[in-house]
Amino acid sequence: MTRKFNFCAGPAAIPEAVLQRAQLEMSDWHDRGLSIMEMSHRSPEFVSVAQKAEADFRELMSIGDDYAVLFLQGGASSQFASVPLNLLGEKGTADYVNTGQWSKKAIKEAGRFCDVNVVASSENTSFSTIPAFDSWQLNKEAAYLHYTPNETIGGVEFFWEPQADVPLVADMSSTILSRQIDVNKFGLIYAGAQKNIGPAGLTLVIVRKDLLDRAQASCPAMFSYKTAAENDSMYNTPATYSWYLSGLVFEWLKEQGGVAAMEQVNARKAAKLYDFIDNSGFYANPVERASRSLMNVPFTLADSALDKAFLLGADESGLLNLKGHRSVGGMRASIYNAVPEEAVDALIAYMADFQQRNA
Ligand code: PMP
Repeated sequence: MTRKFNFCAGPAAIPEAVLQRAQLEMSDWHDRGLSIMEMSHRSPEFVSVAQKAEADFRELMSIGDDYAVLFLQGGASSQFASVPLNLLGEKGTADYVNTGQWSKKAIKEAGRFCDVNVVASSENTSFSTIPAFDSWQLNKEAAYLHYTPNETIGGVEFFWEPQADVPLVADMSSTILSRQIDVNKFGLIYAGAQKNIGPAGLTLVIVRKDLLDRAQASCPAMFSYKTAAENDSMYNTPATYSWYLSGLVFEWLKEQGGVAAMEQVNARKAAKLYDFIDNSGFYANPVERASRSLMNVPFTLADSALDKAFLLGADESGLLNLKGHRSVGGMRASIYNAVPEEAVDALIAYMADFQQRNA
């Protein structure tokens, strides 16, 4: 069997080397006679795996001791509720930026807990832009400012960080580990694992420790960052296999040269694909150039009647999961860390050939 190129937005490609190692270790982890997923999360073996994963993740993202790193469950969608439950404190309002479908979901969920002040929105451009920062209506009394640095569906990415007097909170689900960021600019970062981290089932939270004391009294224990931090993310049974596999991905990332090296490859992959799309006269990407995502590249064909044939042919050529999100249609190529440059080259070759046959 040869592995195909997988452009899925999530759960997304996992490095082949990681899958092979997991396969080798699957039924007998390090000669212990059982698999890692059959061990107690409190066993010395699993605790060593968990600690190594955290240490590598901290190293990859240069996370200082003033931040807690939590390995949680419930997906990024749970964080839409956990963030207000934990960070509102005495305040009754929080600032949110609306740059797409994931921002909207975060805003809707936060509305259950507080007054949401939408400081800026790009809905009037069908989420193809990022509102200029000087137009944002920030509230100094807000508990925090939440934004989505990379909108996975719209393919819109911030290449700058908002400046705020309140803690900055970012949903980095689809951009984490793809390029270097300065964690110190953030109060809290969260990300579902199933794109650049590992398999679904795990959610990473990086939270500044001085924010851990703000939870509402009614915050369920399972949603409390403080409870998670005090129990090394083992208040209950964590997603042990996802945690282990993410640790293998972190080791792989370090072998590749870390986030700085990935960033270079990612920038090259994205530039190639956008250049091809822009110069094709057949394919189009709607996003303003300065805000085009390095990870998720949505595109349309000159005639949407060709979409089906495009996807069928792609599948036959070993290029999987290029269908756009159901809410926007068209195509989307997600080109996360584990999608090699050869995959992008193969996609471009297929797109050029399809165009020649159908334009
Ligand atoms: N935020 C962003 C930016 C996402 O891309 C996704 C998933 N595609 C989510 C949140 C929701 O994540 P989950 O399915 O892990 O809850």
